Amino acid sequence: MLIKKAGQYDVVVVGGGLSGMYAAIEASKYGATVAIISKKKTGKSGSSVVSKSIHRFSSKDSSLKIDYFNKAIGAGRFINDKALMTVLIDNGSDSVENLLSYLPNLYLNKKNSDGILYSNIAYHNPKKGFFITSKIREYIDKHTCISIFDGFTGVEIMTRNDSVCGLIVEKNNDLQYFSAKSIILATGGYAYIYKETSTTNDETGDGIAMALRKGLSTVDMEFVQFYPYRVVFPAIHDIFPNLFSEGAIFVNEKNERFMENFPKKELENRDILAREIFKQKEVFLNLDMCSTSYLLKESPELLEIVKNHPGKPLKVVPKAHFTMGGMRIQSDCSTDLDGLFACGEVTGGLHGANRLAGYALTETAVFGPIAGRNAALYAQNRIHGDIIPEAPFLPQAGQDDIKAIKRQLRDMMWKKVGIVKSEEGLLEAKSVIIELKAKLEKTQPSSLKDWIETYNMLILADVMTESSLLRKESRGAHFRSDYPLEDDNYLGNFVYQQGSWVQMVFETPPEP
Ligand SMILES: Cc1cc2nc3c(=O)[nH]c(=O)nc-3n(C[C@H](O)[C@H](O)[C@H](O)COP(=O)(O)OP(=O)(O)OC[C@H]3O[C@@H](n4cnc5c(N)ncnc54)[C@H](O)[C@@H]3O)c2cc1C
Repeated sequence: MLIKKAGQYDVVVVGGGLSGMYAAIEASKYGATVAIISKKKTGKSGSSVVSKSIHRFSSKDSSLKIDYFNKAIGAGRFINDKALMTVLIDNGSDSVENLLSYLPNLYLNKKNSDGILYSNIAYHNPKKGFFITSKIREYIDKHTCISIFDGFTGVEIMTRNDSVCGLIVEKNNDLQYFSAKSIILATGGYAYIYKETSTTNDETGDGIAMALRKGLSTVDMEFVQFYPYRVVFPAIHDIFPNLFSEGAIFVNEKNERFMENFPKKELENRDILAREIFKQKEVFLNLDMCSTSYLLKESPELLEIVKNHPGKPLKVVPKAHFTMGGMRIQSDCSTDLDGLFACGEVTGGLHGANRLAGYALTETAVFGPIAGRNAALYAQNRIHGDIIPEAPFLPQAGQDDIKAIKRQLRDMMWKKVGIVKSEEGLLEAKSVIIELKAKLEKTQPSSLKDWIETYNMLILADVMTESSLLRKESRGAHFRSDYPLEDDNYLGNFVYQQGSWVQMVFETPPEP
């Protein structure tokens, strides 16, 4: 297949979510020529668009930093990458202030004053992350020379003399390539690998699969956060957990309050709540004890749904929401491949076994610019050279519809590698993955993009399943019904690189 050149840039950013956009802006400030390659529209795609709140990391009291650190490491069940977490907390406050300079009208929630979370949530708005992403895109269009290539899917990283030299992309079944001195992967997570997910359908883990094909390492791939607060019928609506302090409860199909005997009831950690919901046949949000005046003030969208669908029960289903695993990076966002950088949800290790609310958007604001700056500095000393673009694993395009393979994989991952896992289910998952991969490799797809995504999802499914098998304990968001307790023999990370696994074990829980 002939692969034509589409362009030449110092820095090519793959992904048009918040991490990618922040990275591109920073790289261009350092004088680099920059392109954003995005599968869907830059500033209008990825999880960034559907997010809600950002943790502000107050700079007023430096002792708070220790609280932030401890809280995040505790939620991550002590296996977070401490160096990355220190960078997040040290830079969080300034990065969010910087974000506020793009968005002067951002709503600050000052209502709660517990010093850690809610008082420092800079933004909570039902209009969701689009409010932020669209403004940043506007900034790029008006104030920078960054070139944007929307609708282009990054397929493969090209290397020469062990460093990056370009990126193969797909658009409308046609392959092209960009010459690049450095590349930043900002392709987001992989929660779309599950049938039930709250992410957008572009979150198929492409960046991680590309990195794996280059022999780079991933970490914590068994940890996926499932969000327990989504009403899916009669309309889709994400509940803000404060509702449960105001009388809302969850009931099952027998009208039983199944969280009654848990100390924090419906306000238990997300992983506990998601698991308990998953165990019920059906779950509904019951608002009988919640005052209309409270709903009117704090959750008018939900009240609107109730009014528009009188007598209809509000059905709740947990959704795959955020992936803690991903590419291993250093604190400067570099990877083991010269010239390749990564930032945002495509990376792993920062959040350990579970992530705290609001920390992911701050992650994009902190690590996006770090990746951008370092990729631009790296590019300053490089030259473009001749490239022979190749992606030998790709099939010939044809007429085959491979959507059923993708659907089968997502369904199987939800049932066997999801909220509750066991050795039996994980082994079944492995054989299904092998079967689906063999099926996919025989196809000549009508859509190369669909094929590439499914191929990448199968690569990730395999690593996630293997990682889940290796962790014979339950920790944070990873729950094994056959090993339901946390076990200190697993106090560490599973790293996958070039077909082998390394278990990194900490001797004691890390101190701040
Ligand atoms: C429903 C929901 C609500 C959330 N709410 C919050 C919240 O309130 N607070 C919080 O902190 N976090 C929240 N999160 C998590 C947070 O939104 C994400 O972690 C964060 O936005 C990730 O940003 P990103 O830029 O790394 O990736 P994304 O925003 O996911 O962007 C990825 C980009 O890469 C592109 N892409 C993917 N593959 C390719 C490819 N092969 N080639 C080219 N482009 C590609 C995509 O099209 C997209 O543009 C939420 C997540 C969800 C799903």
